[in-house]
Amino acid sequence: MRIGIPRALLYYYYYPMWKVFFEELGAEVVLSSQSTKGILAQGLKYAVDEVCLPVKLSYGHVLELAEQVDFIFLPRLVSVEHRKYICPKFLGLPDMIRRLDKMAPLIDVNVNLYRKNVDLYKAVKKAGSCLTGNKLKIWKAYHRSIVALQKYFRLLQLGLIPEEALAVLENRVKNEPLPYPVELNIAVIGHPYNIYDSYISMNLIKRLRSMGAAVYTAEQVPEKIIKRYAARLPKKLFWTLGQRMLGAASHYLDRPDISGIVHVAAFGCGPDSMTGDLIERQARAMNAPFLNLTLDEHTGEAGVLTRIEAFLDMVRWKQAGVVGL
Ligand code: SF4
Repeated sequence: MRIGIPRALLYYYYYPMWKVFFEELGAEVVLSSQSTKGILAQGLKYAVDEVCLPVKLSYGHVLELAEQVDFIFLPRLVSVEHRKYICPKFLGLPDMIRRLDKMAPLIDVNVNLYRKNVDLYKAVKKAGSCLTGNKLKIWKAYHRSIVALQKYFRLLQLGLIPEEALAVLENRVKNEPLPYPVELNIAVIGHPYNIYDSYISMNLIKRLRSMGAAVYTAEQVPEKIIKRYAARLPKKLFWTLGQRMLGAASHYLDRPDISGIVHVAAFGCGPDSMTGDLIERQARAMNAPFLNLTLDEHTGEAGVLTRIEAFLDMVRWKQAGVVGL
């Protein structure tokens, strides 16, 4: 049985878990390719106009898999933690995808942990039942997949980006990546599917590293710190990813070793417009260098590069004490 997993959206958080789970049940996992202009073009052709850029891109990834696999794993993500929701665009995705021609059958189990975390096993059991009727085997696969996920998150917390953490987990590199020369510490805040997708982000993280910046993301901040900082907001946020981004941004703004913040937003994203604005206000109040990059399918690479270079120059001048900054 070949199970396709699109390299999009919360692939950047949960792929190690999904992969181990399906492989433990004897399936072959087929991952879509790295995002490209062609994959995005397919997504743009078939997605409805109203959705945001990452959802359009996910269409392209699903379409790439459609004729190669027996099933496509596209869970209906409602909530991935207690008392928090995921953006509603995730919820409708399986229904939007299903209407496409020549689509492989979807495994679109409901993941809704809003009330109880144990509800995850219900979803896992249902997904596993597409491959086997052996409940013990599903239970063991589930446990191994959770262990893999915990290892992956530990690697992200150490500062590896998803592709590096996966290379370590899959034994494709013997050691963790070599350190690169560091001159500045920059926090990059955005949804994981925007900042870690090298095509959408135009290789932002690697570019910053090559320009002498160590990059810090929300995934490096422990959950309890995120929650503590997010609790300072006058109103509780009910989106998992929005809370993560705001909590991490406030934490980094409090750290004197972080020289500036880059916020990455996707065109057409409602939550991003709000979180971006809140982060920008905090950064301005603290006189911290801040850059907002809003990306869409028409964003030119040269323009983004110029803005990053100008931002890093501003950070360096500020550190050197240039008057007026
Ligand atoms: S949070 Fe924003 S970028 Fe993410 S799926 Fe929702 S609208 Fe799209």
